[in-house]
Parts: sequence; C-alpha cells; structure tokens
Amino acid sequence: MTDAELLERLIRFPTISSESNLDLIKYVADLLQSHGINTTQIDDPDQAKAALFASVGDPSVPGILLSGHSDVVPVAGQNWHYEPFYPQIESGKLYGRGACDMKGFLAVAINVMISLAQKPLSRPVHLAISFDEELGCLGVKDLLLHLKHIEVEPLLCIVGEPTLMNIALGHKGKAAYRVHCHGQEAHSSRAPLSVNAIYLACDVMAQLRQMQRDFKQHGARDEAYDIPYSTVHVGKIEGGKAINIVPQQCDFDFEIRHLAEDDLDASLNTVFEQAKEIVAQAREEHPDSNADIQFECMSRYPGLNTESDNAMVQSLMAHSTPETQLIKVAFGSEGGLFSQYLNAPVVVCGPGSIAQAHKPDEYVELTQLDACHQLLEQFTAHICE
Ligand SMILES: [Zn+2]
Repeated sequence: MTDAELLERLIRFPTISSESNLDLIKYVADLLQSHGINTTQIDDPDQAKAALFASVGDPSVPGILLSGHSDVVPVAGQNWHYEPFYPQIESGKLYGRGACDMKGFLAVAINVMISLAQKPLSRPVHLAISFDEELGCLGVKDLLLHLKHIEVEPLLCIVGEPTLMNIALGHKGKAAYRVHCHGQEAHSSRAPLSVNAIYLACDVMAQLRQMQRDFKQHGARDEAYDIPYSTVHVGKIEGGKAINIVPQQCDFDFEIRHLAEDDLDASLNTVFEQAKEIVAQAREEHPDSNADIQFECMSRYPGLNTESDNAMVQSLMAHSTPETQLIKVAFGSEGGLFSQYLNAPVVVCGPGSIAQAHKPDEYVELTQLDACHQLLEQFTAHICE
C-alpha cells in the first residue's frame, strides 16, 4: 500500500475524540503484525479507546520513537465541500478529516516501520499511537507510563504534528481550568447583604488579568514565538439567572499557555492563594454565606524546549531538505509530555500545515507525504541500520 492509500484507509475510521478508536487500532495492529511486527495495545480504563505501541529491532538498546495521535477533531457545523471521512485526491492534495492532523504522519510512519521490519537493525524504531490528544493530551499518559515501565529510552522522539516538515524544537505548555464560584442567592434589593457569585468570578479574573500584565512585563521571554511571553486567557463564562436575583453560581474557564521557562505550578498556586483570600473576605463579610471558589483542572501538558545543538536534532536536520528550518510552534503537542516522562530530546515534525488542521476541507499535499517518507526512511537508516 502506498502512503496515500494507507492514509485514505485511516481517514475512513471516524476517530473523533469523543468516539472509540478501537477499529483503527485493531486495523493498524493487524497490519503491523502481518509483517511480523510486535504490537502492544494499551487500553483506556473504560476500554472504549486504546493506544498502540509497536517496535522493530532490539528494544533493549536506545532507538528512535515515532509518535502520533489517532483522534481527530469533530466536523459538526463545518461546511465541507469534500466528504470528511471518504477521502478524495484532487490536484495533488488528499482531502479528509485528519489528513494533516495527523493521520498523514501515521500512514508514513506505519509504512516505514513495515519496510524496516525486513532489514537487520542495530537500533530499534518504535511507533506510539495515542488517543484523546485533541482533548488536551489526555490519552497519552498511560502509554508513557508503559514506555517508562518497559524502559524505552529513545535517542530522539519525533512527534508528527504538521509542521510542513520543518523541525519544531519548542512549544508552550498549557493548563486549562474551570472555576466554580459559589455565592448566596437573594432578592437583588438586598444585594449588599449577600455574596454575588459573579463578583467572586470578577475578582479572580481581575487577578488573572494582572498575572497577564506581570508575564508580559517581568516573565520569561522567547522571541522565537509570535507572542514571546506566557499568556493568560478567559474564554467562557456562565452565571446568574435574572437581574433581580443575586447570583448563587458563576463558572468560568481560563487557560495559561506558558513558556517552558516559566513555572506553571507557581503561577497556578498564586491563582489558588488569591482565590482563598477572596473567599475568606466574602465569608468574613457574610459569615452564613458558604461562599466558595473551586478549581477543576480540565487539561494540562508541559511546554517543550529542545536544545538545537543536540546531536540527534542535528542529524535529523542533516537528512532534511535544504529549505527545512528549526522553528518553534504556537500549537501544543504531546511532545512536552514525551520529553518530561522519557527524558529524551523531542522534536515536532510532520507533513502538512497546521493552517489546514481542524478546518473544513482539511488536506495534505502528496508531496508532503513523500518528503516525510524520505526523511524518516533516510534518518532511521542512518541511525538504526
Ligand atoms: Zn494533532
């Protein structure tokens, strides 16, 4: 099967993050096994989804780890001119959900593994396929614990998110939280005698806005990013029932996207401590109010910051085309977690452009699949054969 044919096959599994990916995982596992490649399936606790790990070559020595996610973002509400799950090739572009993010890389990586399985290897090549990446890198953690447990030590980990085959050495980390603010319901004419949950939320948000100013003025800076400092953002809020009722409940969502150099835990602790003070003050003024603010973590992954002078990075660069650049990217990936859990250098490098990801008529150019195939084939031959 060509890379394009395999990609078409993978796109036909509608592995939207909310749905099961087991059919795709079984298909890939069967395909790899039919070429004599060992695979391990790592089930999600509720068994609706699974990650897959496969290796060629001697797994007891350090090798190359290729990594991708099997899930794709939803298509509901998007205006597609092509069928998202019945891929089509037109003018050198393959259209379908997941074409660039990131089943294109998976198709190439699987085919490269299959051809490596026929050869004697001095070092192994591993393939790790996760799920629930699009929900904030949730599904990769059991896979990483498995890799830690079996002592996989990669010389380099390549996460195949779309970079137009440039080599990304960094991205910001991210934490997303839902904040639940509880006040005390009352008739609005008696407002000063009660705790307004919307005001509690406003007080926390004022602190978050101050945190943004502090990041901009005093935080770490990395000019490789468009926004060279850590960012804080509130994206959703819900609270109150009517103008004549003091609101009892207000919930809002915020995120921090931080440079790897900024201490996320310290920033979050500041937010938590400030919220405790806001609650303490509300309870002091209204002792019978049960005022409270609770934080619910929705997702979290660390930033990535790989050194450009790493020997493996230099070797990958040497096998790339002359126009390949070392870059940093605005989007997050599982790369930060791979680097944290496995303590290995990690780069993000894959076919297609992030500009096409998550959008209607997502596509990957066939020349990008070819460029990816050539790079993985030549690089793994150089390191592992
Ligand atoms: Zn992706």
